[in-house]
Amino acid sequence: MSAQIRFLGGAGTVTGSKYLVEAHGKKILIDCGLFQGLKKLRLKNWDEFAINPETIDCIILTHAHIDHSGYIPRLIKSGFRGKVYSTEATRDVCKILLPDCGYLLEEEAVYLNRVQRTKHKPALPLFTSEDAEEALESFVNVPFHKTHAISSQISFEFRYAGHILGASSVVLTVDHKKIFFTGDVGRINDEIFHPPDVIPNMDYLVTESTYGNRLHSSEDVATELSHVVNETYGRGGVLVIPAFAVGRAQSIMYYLTQLRRQNRIPSMPMFLNSPMATDFSSIFKKHTKLHKLTLKDCAEIDSHFRYVRSADESRALNERTGPMIIISASGMLTGGRVLHHLKAFAPHPENTILLSGYQSAGTRGESLQNGAREVKIHGEYIPVRAQVRNLDNISAHADYGELIQWFQHSKVKPKKVFITHGEASAADEFRRRLAEKFGWDCSVPEQDEIFKLE
Ligand SMILES: [Zn+2]
Repeated sequence: MSAQIRFLGGAGTVTGSKYLVEAHGKKILIDCGLFQGLKKLRLKNWDEFAINPETIDCIILTHAHIDHSGYIPRLIKSGFRGKVYSTEATRDVCKILLPDCGYLLEEEAVYLNRVQRTKHKPALPLFTSEDAEEALESFVNVPFHKTHAISSQISFEFRYAGHILGASSVVLTVDHKKIFFTGDVGRINDEIFHPPDVIPNMDYLVTESTYGNRLHSSEDVATELSHVVNETYGRGGVLVIPAFAVGRAQSIMYYLTQLRRQNRIPSMPMFLNSPMATDFSSIFKKHTKLHKLTLKDCAEIDSHFRYVRSADESRALNERTGPMIIISASGMLTGGRVLHHLKAFAPHPENTILLSGYQSAGTRGESLQNGAREVKIHGEYIPVRAQVRNLDNISAHADYGELIQWFQHSKVKPKKVFITHGEASAADEFRRRLAEKFGWDCSVPEQDEIFKLE
């Protein structure tokens, strides 16, 4: 085999995942994510693409999260004409996430033009929701565990990764040599998703390292959640749960439903204020083989929640008093309806803001997690007097202990390991742990770095 891999994103950061494999005259992009979070990262989305997008043959997409899929519409605008291979569920989730992402980018451009805080006149969105709708037409469904040939020497297969609905790892085979891309990896014992598939034999391993230097708390999520709900209820407060609309919101609803059934939390109004999360619930019901919930479980969840659709209903929630629970997006408080709830409820000490899961550097979620007592929303500083809590254990990512356990259980013996999709310190600590534990040859690639795969 003569091939090379180039790390065009997800190197030293958790966002912008893009790994370009070149072999036998083909150029294959594994994931095509948007850089998110810190401004210096977001600006990279505007850089000219490292190679001419017209020369890329196809994209193999591990899952729908924007940091893996969100650059696809832009790549197409820049001339990419190939297919985007994904599982059917990933495509279904992308149908919600990509147009929404385009819409948010359009809104941001409108805002920048209005406040005239732009070097470019007028500021333009990276892509529009219409571009995103068009991009979806390039998608081709490839089922899990089916080998799909790209050429006579190159093929790939999706393996179940348990991270979000439709999420996969990718086995890319070039001349009988295998490169395994973990994609984002879910938990071994998750309430909703099955554990990730055992990894087949492979030669090269490209692994994520989001939690490369951290372990999740051992506390049971339901117990942790019940404490926060009961404390807030006791103060008559409002519990605001910023949650990623696709996946996280459903997990939290599932846990709250369980707690109600077991009478571990009192009855109170519970709202899901995210039209996107509401749409996602129907996709979740369509793909019951990909998760552990039955249709009956889904119906029980529906019976406990009020789904807020219109902007008027959303605003009306801010006039209500507690106790009540509001789940709303976005999960890291980077945008969405939850910001209005934060404005309304963060200044009052009886309320609680419950963060759920990973908070990227540079987001409001991260500053709250680090104890910020004010946050800037729509140009205004909002004091934070509410309790801020963190539901750490609900992560959709395996921690380093679980990743090591997965590798060990799968008896993998890679010739070479590339550690990606982690902040620099997490990736480096994971490199050290893997080298110590298995004696593997591990590298933490830098942005744009190229490695030969012989
Ligand atoms: Zn992900």
